[in-house]
Amino acid sequence: MSTSNVENVIIIGSGPAGLTSAVYTARANLNPLMIEGEEAGGQLMITTEVENFPGFEHGITGPDLIAVMRKQAERFGTRFITRNVTRVDFSAKPYKVFVGDKEYQAKSIIISTGASAKLLGLPSEKQYMSRGVSACATCDGAFFRNVEVAVVGGGDTAMEEANFLTRFASKVYIIHRSETFKSSKIMLERAQKNPKIEFITNAAVEEVIGDGKSMNAIKLKSTKTNETWTKSLQGLFIAIGHQPNTKLFNGLITTNDVGYIQTTPGTAKTNIEGVFAAGDVQDPIYRQAITAAGSGCMAAIDCERWLETQH
Ligand code: NDP
Repeated sequence: MSTSNVENVIIIGSGPAGLTSAVYTARANLNPLMIEGEEAGGQLMITTEVENFPGFEHGITGPDLIAVMRKQAERFGTRFITRNVTRVDFSAKPYKVFVGDKEYQAKSIIISTGASAKLLGLPSEKQYMSRGVSACATCDGAFFRNVEVAVVGGGDTAMEEANFLTRFASKVYIIHRSETFKSSKIMLERAQKNPKIEFITNAAVEEVIGDGKSMNAIKLKSTKTNETWTKSLQGLFIAIGHQPNTKLFNGLITTNDVGYIQTTPGTAKTNIEGVFAAGDVQDPIYRQAITAAGSGCMAAIDCERWLETQH
């Protein structure tokens, strides 16, 4: 096992939250070390056009947005390790972050490991991701004007996304595997009252069908009778929940009951002093690139101020 010098700050995760905290901590002369992971960049890497990130009047693709943020962080001296963190130890200072057999030590940590949208797990869903299939209506809804789309799921996210999508789509189907809904009554009723929304209950998506370039239909299967049928659709939004990427920190840091890291409201502070969290890993509500970036800035400033108190 080899050990590094004690870093001022190690940033774990390289989406907009991590990269923004890298820009800020680097400009504060903290010489941050970012462990960006083997699949760096986070959820933006599977997004096509980003039209709602201020500053890009004509939009930018998710991977391009990450690439410019990374260059900006690098310009101020951020160092990157393109490997996955395998273990952390926050039980004593300096904190330890392990990457395989290499141990890194730091006075402070910023956790920005993000969250992942849960997917159905179909090979065809993967094939048509960003080619009709999306896991984010806020991000991609505007690309589906005057066409028919469907949302899969029966929770608040599905109801909210379906309502949102009626601004663009001519018709929105909510496909749910049962007849009982996890969503709050008020959000379910709002969707039921929306004339552009139609419910397809007791049905599961079996396959996404397309011409290789974009999807144009789905295959559905009744969860009651096993009967299958095909439905023509231009878009399919998967809204079956998100999973915060907190496996590394299980039992080490306070999370809410579904695994999101808890921060002191209005700050990026976790229950461990000197350990901060930013972005989707601590945000089950907004989940936007811009809110992640904003919270990355908060984490960097909280971290810088905390380090000052340690001298
Ligand atoms: P939920 O876990 O509440 O709901 C997930 C839904 O997806 C369930 O209906 C579930 O079905 C279905 N589902 C799960 N896995 C599959 C699968 N493999 N195939 C088909 N269907 C599946 O997640 P949400 O993202 O909707 O909500 C998460 C949290 O965020 C909740 O607490 C919610 O209240 C909150 N939220 C609040 C909002 C607001 O207040 N504005 C907006 C959005 C979210 P089943 O019921 O059969 O298990």
